[in-house]
Amino acid sequence: MNIVLLGAPGSGKGTQAKALGQRLGLLHVASGDLFRHHLGLKTLLGELAGSYMVRGELVPDDVTIRMIAERLAEADAAGGVLLDGFPRTAAQAAALDAMLAVLGQTADGAVLIDVPDAVIITRISGRLVCPTCQTPYHRSLLAGDTCPADGALLERRADDAPEKVGRRLEIYHEQIGPVLSHYRATGRLHEVPGEGSVAEISAAVAGAIDRIRQGR
Ligand SMILES: [Zn+2]
Repeated sequence: MNIVLLGAPGSGKGTQAKALGQRLGLLHVASGDLFRHHLGLKTLLGELAGSYMVRGELVPDDVTIRMIAERLAEADAAGGVLLDGFPRTAAQAAALDAMLAVLGQTADGAVLIDVPDAVIITRISGRLVCPTCQTPYHRSLLAGDTCPADGALLERRADDAPEKVGRRLEIYHEQIGPVLSHYRATGRLHEVPGEGSVAEISAAVAGAIDRIRQGR
């Protein structure tokens, strides 16, 4: 069984993928990890991806697709994968179907962890980090604006400012629309609400995967 996990930045998708992969016996394939792996080992694909990244350009679909195709062809992926961060575009979604077909497999379902943008903006823009001990905090769980451990004034990463998060969400929605259509049109899209505790969301995603497994 091969499952695609979809969700916006800040939707908790990565956390869920890690936990669920183990629980369901599926290999967790995260595109971000794969990029870091190739960049770190300076593979041909890593060098190619890096050449776009240093110019601040998006890595083209065909490079990302080749990385995923290579990974899915490895022996440990044969028992099923939980994909996290791929596909991000309609072309990638179509390529995924094609590469799995070559392996005699299918993308059985896509699970979207659906979190309203306003909730994501509150979540991300509330993130703070201590410049002294690097401990991450969330504004909603703190009484003041200093590190409880060492008293340093907490800071917010520039990328976590609300306007930056808003722009990231805009890009996400532009790209994900056609991916959702791809899976919806073939009856493979399952949406679960992404608000609540990690455990609640995890249970909802596991329920959706159960329905996919039973072919409903
Ligand atoms: Zn600190």
